[in-house]
Amino acid sequence: MTSTESQTAVSAAGLTAKHYGAVIVGGGFAGLYALHKLRGLGFSARIYEAGDGIGGTWFWNRYPGARVDIQSLEYSYQFDEALQQQWDWSERYAPQSELLDYANHVADRFDLWPDIQLDTRIAALCYDDATRVWRATTDRGETVTADHVVMATGCLSSTNTPDFPGLASFEGRLLHTGRWPKEPVDFSGRRVGIVGTGSSAIQTIPLVAAQAAHLTVFQRTANYSVPAHNGPIPDAVVRDVKSRYADYRAANNLTALGADWDYREDTAMEHTPEEREAEYERRWARGGLSFYGSYADLLVDPVANNTAAAFIRGKIRQIVEDPATAEKLCPTAALACKRICVDTGYYATFNRPNVTLVDVKAAPIEAITATGLRTSDALYELDDLILATGFDAMTGPLTRMDIRGVGGLALKDAWAEGPKTYLGLCVAGFPNLFIVAGPGSPSVLTNMLPSIEQHVNWIGAAADYLRANGLKRIEAQIPAQDAWVAHVNETAAPTILATCNSWYLGANIPGKPRVFMPYLGFAPYVAKCEEVVARGYEGFELA
Ligand code: NAP
Repeated sequence: MTSTESQTAVSAAGLTAKHYGAVIVGGGFAGLYALHKLRGLGFSARIYEAGDGIGGTWFWNRYPGARVDIQSLEYSYQFDEALQQQWDWSERYAPQSELLDYANHVADRFDLWPDIQLDTRIAALCYDDATRVWRATTDRGETVTADHVVMATGCLSSTNTPDFPGLASFEGRLLHTGRWPKEPVDFSGRRVGIVGTGSSAIQTIPLVAAQAAHLTVFQRTANYSVPAHNGPIPDAVVRDVKSRYADYRAANNLTALGADWDYREDTAMEHTPEEREAEYERRWARGGLSFYGSYADLLVDPVANNTAAAFIRGKIRQIVEDPATAEKLCPTAALACKRICVDTGYYATFNRPNVTLVDVKAAPIEAITATGLRTSDALYELDDLILATGFDAMTGPLTRMDIRGVGGLALKDAWAEGPKTYLGLCVAGFPNLFIVAGPGSPSVLTNMLPSIEQHVNWIGAAADYLRANGLKRIEAQIPAQDAWVAHVNETAAPTILATCNSWYLGANIPGKPRVFMPYLGFAPYVAKCEEVVARGYEGFELA
């Protein structure tokens, strides 16, 4: 059966519905590759995408300055040699528009469009144990059935809009970095406020400041940011990587976080302060996230961590001219307990006369008024308010959807105390539902593209295995799932990553269970996934 000839099946409601080998929820990089992979294996599959275009993260996050913070030569697909040889990135860190072009190029190149349905949100997914199919209902009232569901819904796709009193009364332009309009937004001559100082804000702030009459930055927690040193990729670098692409990818996959961050195996504490300083200077000059690779003890020893953190605080004090502003911008938490940000001119932006930094931890935001933002000690008149307030990360895209497994169990109830998955891929009680880069997988702690490909390859192989063996159903077993959840927590607990109020822990969303969600360690994770398969899908029940 080809992908476009879907079978007709009788749904549980007795109505005929189109039937697919797989329904894929989301048309970002995960969904596109899942469609290509599953079709290549002979399954019929269809992507349902809520947006009116593909590209996921790069479709929605169009704010000024949005660009990837992992080198594009790495943050790209590797499943097709011709694609990775022929595609050229214009810059070391591609801008959002180029990433969107790339997604569209992939859809054109692999003829994915006939099996992509845009402007369609999956409203509900329900597993019918009698017929062993999933029933998917769209927000257009359409129902289809599928043997498998692939949740390619992304880790950072459900935006977080804080419940500020009076938000709806704001009469200026209200924007969220994660839902930026397609049309360019002109800030010329305007008084702009931005709430948040995470990765999105840190990329946006320098560009908005350069345009606006005045920019007020409302900061609750200072973040560490390192310079991108973005620019064109030297031809020699491109030639070198392309001449050994497979080896380059393989070597990166063996590192702790799955990216080319120049990992050292020695520890910071083995070195003198002068040696450490020289190493951190080297990494600051190199730019990007290579601070993660500085020393082997950076993520586990607070004393070692503070040597790098102090180095970055020193840089902030050098760059920012006003000492009081510099102090406010200096983070106090451990480096990397929240994701390190990558910027172009962020700290220097606070030297501009039209930029003000307001500490909303000291004077909390009390309300949004018709004309501005009120903290406990001042009212700021604004024409535009930008919320750079992040996402209900990892679980939000899944728990905000009505997903019901065996016996009508709702995923949001199954996860009431925090997400429980086996390998971040599957959930007990939800057979044949696969999550790409789900909680419990390395996902956001890695370069997402290789993680996505590894997951989709695993899912494709599992679906193929079931079909080849006359099986219909694969379900994670509770003991295996419980052991995996415990392992994910045990791995993170001794590290710096578990020590502050990050979205890794769900701590940015009021009331969200505090559970460390991603799995730390790409290479051991891949080995574990392969071992599970080699042992006949150990920890799963196949029927
Ligand atoms: P984020 O890191 O969660 O930052 C949200 C910001 O909003 C934080 O500064 C947070 O303060 C603040 N905030 C949230 N609620 C608030 C409230 N009620 N009052 C005041 N401040 C509030 O979100 P993000 O910047 O969108 O980034 C999320 C992740 O997306 C990043 O960590 C990264 O993984 C990814 N990302 C990547 C790129 C890239 O590749 N270049 C770019 C953007 C984003 P607190 O810290 O105090 O909570």
